Amino acid sequence: MDKTTINHSPSPGALASDPKVAEPVRTEFSWAAARAELDGLPGGGLNIAWEAVDRQVRAGRGEATALRWLGKTGERREFSYAELARLSDRFANGLERLGVGRGDRVCALIGRVPDLYITALGTLKAGAVFCPLFSAFGPEPVRVRLARSRARVLVTTTLLYERKVRAQRAGLPDLAHVLLADGEDGADVRAFQGLLDAEPDDRAPPRTTAEDWALLHFTSGTTGLPKGAIHVHDAVTAHRLTGRSILDLRPGDVFWCTADPGWVTGVSYGIIAPLTNGATLVVDEAEFDVRRWYAILERERVNVWYTAPTAIRLLMKAGPEPARGHDLSALRLAASVGEPLHAEGVLWGEEHLGQPFHDTWWQTETGAIMIANDPGHPVRPGSMGQPLPGIEAAIVRRRPEGGVEFLASDEEGELALRVGWPSMFRGYLDDEERYRACFADGWYLSGDLARRDADGYFWFVGRSDDVIKTAGHLIGPFEVESVLLEHPAVAEAGMIGKPDDYAGQIVKAFVALKPDYVASDALRKELIGFARTRLGPAVAPRELEFMTDLPKTRSGKILRRLLRARELGLPPGDLSTVEGEET
Ligand code: ATP
Ligand code: MG
Repeated sequence: MDKTTINHSPSPGALASDPKVAEPVRTEFSWAAARAELDGLPGGGLNIAWEAVDRQVRAGRGEATALRWLGKTGERREFSYAELARLSDRFANGLERLGVGRGDRVCALIGRVPDLYITALGTLKAGAVFCPLFSAFGPEPVRVRLARSRARVLVTTTLLYERKVRAQRAGLPDLAHVLLADGEDGADVRAFQGLLDAEPDDRAPPRTTAEDWALLHFTSGTTGLPKGAIHVHDAVTAHRLTGRSILDLRPGDVFWCTADPGWVTGVSYGIIAPLTNGATLVVDEAEFDVRRWYAILERERVNVWYTAPTAIRLLMKAGPEPARGHDLSALRLAASVGEPLHAEGVLWGEEHLGQPFHDTWWQTETGAIMIANDPGHPVRPGSMGQPLPGIEAAIVRRRPEGGVEFLASDEEGELALRVGWPSMFRGYLDDEERYRACFADGWYLSGDLARRDADGYFWFVGRSDDVIKTAGHLIGPFEVESVLLEHPAVAEAGMIGKPDDYAGQIVKAFVALKPDYVASDALRKELIGFARTRLGPAVAPRELEFMTDLPKTRSGKILRRLLRARELGLPPGDLSTVEGEET
């Protein structure tokens, strides 16, 4: 599908105050043209890191700030594009000296510090595969990922190594080198800095092809054990394009992506998209903190902000007071990804930050944004938006005999994408069967349920594992949870199906309250009544339980499968697919 003509039309039901009401446009789009905008390697081929940093240096932007690092304790460091190019060259040289190259996996288990960015870019330049591990994982998820990726190199810190890796090293025979960002050379480790210091600043251009493996990302494990999705260098075509067209990134913009680079968003949009578009990347080493975040948005004059519903919920929970008095006038675009963004969140952004959140939908497997409320169109609150140019999306049903059937507007079914975009995953590591099961008739089947309205906007319904059937009705958690979140007392909501002799399943909701509210029978009745008026008795929760916090993945997504397990009284052993916390 190299050539696609998209017809975007302005939408009724958009935010009245949004000034960006666009005329209908017909966009001639081809991936070949998007690819042609990239530099490419001097000898032919393509390399993500080259496009991210060396391209900017060659275009005369070497002195521009690529990375602005904010340390936990107030320290600040800036790296120009030229410096990042040099440091990543050194790391690539170091890898080569260690005998690490094409296709070898280099894992990073490290917080949001500059060495992580140097590692990612240097690994890509060396033709090796970068595989980030979330630094807050406990020893077991770390071991599983190191083993499954057959990592040859691990970049980490002394503390993380001692706590999470050292005792298991004997069981990781492929792991030849451990590089410590803050350590000295030792019996089984080397100093990261020492490796860089021993290498020259420059290096011949990489020799990767567009189809060489570049990134290995484990999914976040919301529905089960994480899968290792493989991406190739050609993904940069989509990263750069979506960074520009959906996040509106322009050279010199200050961009803050709050996702940790341990997850796909933190790499695709926390490193590659902003750098390939010449923006300045803000990296905050610290964890979420309401006041710190407002201060960063203001002080750093953030132009474009990409965050997630889990963070938006926390900001909303903290109320409007901490937002007050901050000058957020630099903020031009705010966007969200990772979970459904309820209309409440979109409108809250408009009211308290001066920008509505633009929802975007994509997955580890898609590598880049596929469906979005793009900056050229009014936001449709509660909708994920429209497919991007070059992306063909459909709502389908899998036929039992194989193949797919296309559904009409407003019908709920599985969200599918026609195969052929550059950042599509090229496999699940060591699981060809599972990879194949994702495709039918030339379409990639996402495992998410959605519907498309008559104007072509897509609405999230739920993950196929989370949807329930009650008395013959199919119910997705999104609509029930959205309504509960409209109630002023509700900070978080999660819905599951509870087995029932008569209805098959009934809707049960779990709710966390905002700080000023106290759980009571009266409030429970009020919330159920509130949902009934809006959703009708067939869809509204029949039962509602209060919790202090809802269980979440390490990336912050609500874990409905844990709520189900809790409801069914499964022993902890049955929850073993939940991944370890840091101890
Ligand atoms: P696993 O596949 O291991 O269960 P995961 O699907 O949570 O984990 P990711 O690839 O990080 O891992 O997440 C992608 C999923 O997140 C999507 O399939 C979708 O369910 C959800 N998601 C992402 N963006 C949105 C959005 N804008 N609206 C609703 N859901 C979203
Ligand atoms: Mg998934």
